[in-house]
Formats: sequence, C-alpha cells, structure tokens
Amino acid sequence: MIKTVSGCVDCGRPCMGHACPHYEIEVYACDDCESTQRDLYDIEGNLYCSECVLSHLPKVCN
Ligand SMILES: [Zn+2]
Ligand SMILES: [Zn+2]
Repeated sequence: MIKTVSGCVDCGRPCMGHACPHYEIEVYACDDCESTQRDLYDIEGNLYCSECVLSHLPKVCN
C-alpha cells in the first residue's frame, strides 16, 4: 500500500501543519503490518515486508 505519513523533521517549530512541505509524504508500506521500515517485496501487485512475505509466497512443497 501507499501510506501517507508526516515526514516533518523539526522544520521550524511548531510545524506549519498542512502548509509544511514535509507534512505529508507518500511511502510504501507492507500490506499486512503496514511497516514502512523494512524492505518490501511485490507479490502480484501486493507489497509485503521481509517479515510477512513468506506467508504470502506460494508454497511448492513442505
Ligand atoms: Zn513541518
Ligand atoms: Zn509486514
């Protein structure tokens, strides 16, 4: 998923909120746990982090 987060980093406090150029930035996040901190993998258009990706990979054998 694409998640909108606040990317403000002490840009003149208090932050100007929506007028702040860093207030809303778009980042990719895991479709399962919504983590934006880990590497993401694309499986058929869905994004999963390294923690969640294994449970979504097609299993071939045990
Ligand atoms: Zn700001
Ligand atoms: Zn995840």
